[in-house]
Amino acid sequence: MTIGLYPGSFDPVTNGHLDVATRAARLFDRLVIGVFDRPAKHLLFSAEERVELWKGAVAQIPNVTVEHYNILTVEFARTIGAQVIVRGLRMSSDFEGEFEMALMNKQISPKIESVFLMANLPFQFLSSSLLKEVVQLGGDITSLVPPNVLKALGTKFKVLQVTEQNLIRR
Ligand code: ADP
Repeated sequence: MTIGLYPGSFDPVTNGHLDVATRAARLFDRLVIGVFDRPAKHLLFSAEERVELWKGAVAQIPNVTVEHYNILTVEFARTIGAQVIVRGLRMSSDFEGEFEMALMNKQISPKIESVFLMANLPFQFLSSSLLKEVVQLGGDITSLVPPNVLKALGTKFKVLQVTEQNLIRR
């Protein structure tokens, strides 16, 4: 059985990530989406929330499961029996970082292969960070995220606005 691991911080999952996962699910018997608990990034959603958002987005794909992890990605791959790490590539911007990471992973764990799926054209310029900026400024992101993520972003930013207003009032 070939198991693929699609790891990332996914804060939150976008249609670009979902497109990669959907295509990867066709290549492997099983695809595990690995949500990294503590990336060196400022996060909007907790690990549990990021897992739940992914679960809602891939509910219709039978061979996909979602888990979170807080160890080295290659260690996690070994733990779940994955032979392949899947990553997405957008234009040239992702290449250097992904290349470095793949070589490091190969060094640590030579048996695990990295496979890259090129982002489809509509998602080439889509990133979770840009998405959060746009939604914070009131932009329409309906076509860029799964419906459950759209709802969660709406709720999150409403909650954040209320918290900010309360802080200003104090
Ligand atoms: P990271 O894992 O570097 O924190 P993300 O969680 O945003 O980054 O992304 C996880 C993986 O999905 C990475 O391989 C990234 O290049 C890829 N990816 C991000 N956005 C897109 C997109 N719009 N289309 C295809 N792949 C993407």
